[in-house]
Amino acid sequence: MKFYIVIIFVSILSLSGIAESTETLPVYKLSVSFDMENSLLKAAAHITFPEDVTRDILTGDLRIIAITFNGQPLVPEIKDGIFKICGKGILEITYEGYFREEQATEIEDLENVGVVTKNIISSKRISLTSNWYPSFEGMTNWNLNVLLPKGFKAISEADEVDVIGTDQGMEYTFHFPYPLRQIHLVAGPYTEQHESHQGIEIYTYFFPEDTSIAGKYVAYAKKYLSLYGELLAPYPYKRFSVVENILPTGYSMPTFTLLGQTVMKLPFIPETSLGHEILHQWFGNYVYGDYKSGNWLEGITSYLPDHLYEEQKGTGWQHRKKILIDYQSYVTPSKEAPLKDFKERTDFASTAIGYGKGAMVFHMLKNLVGENTFFSVLRGLIEEKKFSDASWTDIERAFEKASGENLDWFFRQWIERNDIPSLDMEDARVTVLKGIPTVSFEILQKVEPYKLSLPYKVITEKSEIKGTLQIEKANQKFEIPVDAKPLRIIFDEDYDLMRGLTDKEFPPVLVRLLGDDEKGIIFQENEKEKYAELIEIFSKEGFVAKEEKEVKDEDIRDSSLLILSSESPVLKRLFGQVSRPEAGFTLVVKQNPLNTKKVVAYADGDTKEEIDPVVRKLFRYGKYSLLRFKGGENIEKETEKSERGIVISLYEPVLGINPRKYISLTEIIDTVVDKNVIFIGERHTSYEDHKVQLEVIMELLQKGKRVAIGMEMFQRPFQKAIDDYLSGAISEKEFLKASEYFKRWKFEYNLYREIIEFAKAKGIPIIALNLQEEIIKKVAAGGLDALTPEERKEIPQDMDMTDEDYRERVRKVFQLHERSLIKNFDYFYQSQILWDETMAHSIAQFLSDHPDYQMVVLAGGQHIMFSSGIPKRTARLTGKDYATLINGIDGELDSDIGDFVLFPNPVTPPVSPKLGVLLQEEEGRIKVKDLLPGSMAQKAGIKKDDTFVSIDDWKIESIEDVKIALFDKKIGETVTVKVLRKRFLRSDKELEFQVTL
Ligand SMILES: [Zn+2]
Repeated sequence: MKFYIVIIFVSILSLSGIAESTETLPVYKLSVSFDMENSLLKAAAHITFPEDVTRDILTGDLRIIAITFNGQPLVPEIKDGIFKICGKGILEITYEGYFREEQATEIEDLENVGVVTKNIISSKRISLTSNWYPSFEGMTNWNLNVLLPKGFKAISEADEVDVIGTDQGMEYTFHFPYPLRQIHLVAGPYTEQHESHQGIEIYTYFFPEDTSIAGKYVAYAKKYLSLYGELLAPYPYKRFSVVENILPTGYSMPTFTLLGQTVMKLPFIPETSLGHEILHQWFGNYVYGDYKSGNWLEGITSYLPDHLYEEQKGTGWQHRKKILIDYQSYVTPSKEAPLKDFKERTDFASTAIGYGKGAMVFHMLKNLVGENTFFSVLRGLIEEKKFSDASWTDIERAFEKASGENLDWFFRQWIERNDIPSLDMEDARVTVLKGIPTVSFEILQKVEPYKLSLPYKVITEKSEIKGTLQIEKANQKFEIPVDAKPLRIIFDEDYDLMRGLTDKEFPPVLVRLLGDDEKGIIFQENEKEKYAELIEIFSKEGFVAKEEKEVKDEDIRDSSLLILSSESPVLKRLFGQVSRPEAGFTLVVKQNPLNTKKVVAYADGDTKEEIDPVVRKLFRYGKYSLLRFKGGENIEKETEKSERGIVISLYEPVLGINPRKYISLTEIIDTVVDKNVIFIGERHTSYEDHKVQLEVIMELLQKGKRVAIGMEMFQRPFQKAIDDYLSGAISEKEFLKASEYFKRWKFEYNLYREIIEFAKAKGIPIIALNLQEEIIKKVAAGGLDALTPEERKEIPQDMDMTDEDYRERVRKVFQLHERSLIKNFDYFYQSQILWDETMAHSIAQFLSDHPDYQMVVLAGGQHIMFSSGIPKRTARLTGKDYATLINGIDGELDSDIGDFVLFPNPVTPPVSPKLGVLLQEEEGRIKVKDLLPGSMAQKAGIKKDDTFVSIDDWKIESIEDVKIALFDKKIGETVTVKVLRKRFLRSDKELEFQVTL
């Protein structure tokens, strides 16, 4: 039902019941002429009331000139545009109506396009569709006479039309043999075209500039009239007209359809909406809707054309999936309503219910009773109810009679409930039972259980097995035996059920942004003017406009967003740098990386002239993820792929490796030698991993490469300490102190020492990649919003948060840390991304400053596996080639884990000797809190509460200083430890001990 946005059927008109005698109905003779220069209608209404009843006559804003009743002048009290008239006889009213074009300019309700309650009279056109004559309740026999200037053509409800040329102009008389509740009049300098088709006179009335499209409308009108005539019942009238209207209407009245000019030019309308409108000639203008139990007309008129055309093309499922996407986007919990409450559409949500869910109900009904029965019931219903009202109850009764079954359950759950089913597939597994592979699973219903026929398809290595499951409980277990190894099972792949979509079936499309209850539009102050029109229109549609610097992470997480400009920092924080769109206007919708239930869109327009004409049009392109316009015309549209049906994988391939095909590290280095960046993932405490890193670096140097080493182990503010050490300006111990190595990285320095010494000896630069841990900790605890403006400047401005698989892997790590202080996964994830992005930016910066270098990056394996942490981000920033080498893996082997997985033999790591003291920092002094019994320090004579002064010549000012003093000592070596010992009533005494390690 993708055309609902543009076209609707208006429910206010209908014909009288055939059983009702037309003798007892009023006869309304209306004569109208125009003063078009002054937007004035002059009319005389002559109404005969055959029955002695009291009626309300509605005159609204019409200017009454004179009223007579049975020939006597009447001056009634007109209150709120209504006066009363009692008794039978002839009521005559002369009146004027004033309908300026300007009044009709504010006409487009973007959520309800096609409904127009304004009239227009101008020198160029006339459109009178509501309150343009005195009216009253009930059916009336009509006689309309209209005087128009030459060159104008007029259309109203009519089986026959008389046209006579007079001195004043053209006189039209419309004849319609059935009573109506209401009539309409449209006129203009139309080009009229006419064709006879199977006894029906088909007319088109197009404005001269649009006559080229008339032929297409005639062709489709013929097709639909024949098709529905055959399928349902012969077309009930002699004439059918397709009329172009200056106002953006989408109406179907008996004998004609009135479509807005802008809509008619859309290329897909003849094929689509026209079918819906023509079908209303049967459902609405022949059988009328009794809305007391809900309007069913829009459901059937939306379903049948789609069913007939899309289904034949094999694309019916796409259509129904779109219905479900619209429903899920617009019908948020606060907007849920049952079909029985749907009368007419007022916004996107009511459309998704009345048109969308309504169509799905007819689809399910057709599947329930079978196609033949379905159409024979519809034919029977038309025959029985023609020219009279029909309700959902009549439909239920007709289908029950034809099928011989009680369908109460079906109609109660689909018409009266305001929710829709939502299914969860759990515990899917394959077991071989007595030699037969059997798929078993459990289906849970998240809302009060519906009774459903759920189609499924099991795909095995040999075949596809299709079937249907009968579901009616909150949870049900199923077993399906199959013929061969089952690969996956797909539920409802053709979207035969009205149901909630899974995340994977729900693509990021524009309707999800438009339909969200929480939605924002984010602009940059300096571009506010350029996007003013867009901001205004979207604000009217419920978007909260915010300037970029006010945006918090929680705004991004809790709402769907439209970000203006592809250069927006907010955008960069989520997706990294997005490519700048080509000229014109571009809109892209993406999954919100912080919340899978929400979307983030960005729009980019070159100039106001490119943006403004597109703004209103966007609402018609809801099903797309990418849109491009040039000069206001759409030139590209695309929907992001999503899964078809609920897909459950039943088989994960098992990977193996052939140990006889191992390749040596030397061969691996030969393969990666020319890569710009070589990532070597480590297990931090595995000495053998660091040996591998050193070997790679040495080999590359051997091969004449210019190598730099990037290290996760050092944080960026400490680059100078590294540089000073490598240049020889400071000693190794001074370097460890100045870089705060033991405070920040903590792992045994000897694990890395050979690499760093090698770099120093060969003049290889080492780059501190990491962000200072203070910022990472702050983000992990309170998200990016917790940072001060100064800290924000320290971090990368563009970040890609879209890697869903990485998010899931990080989530697993987070769950291991569950008892830690970090409570919020979103914050934890942000801190991880920030960490990775900073390292990637550090690499990119170095390579951009030193393009002749190749970098070997040393970091924990988690930052490198699947390229998710640092490698892909580096490639995004540099466009350079890389290779990943992963040392050892704890979890399962996956073919995407890296370019190479290495299995170095374990090597006992070097261990720095320990004194066996427990130290505590107290008022700037390093005090012995306790000594391990039998430790070297105790044996040497050091006591509890001694304060450390120095070890050998290294002053002890912090606990890390002890590590620095000892890291390069060997077991068995002797060091000199100076301490201060407190003495009672005397000053502290300095003591010196020789400690053998
Ligand atoms: Zn309709």
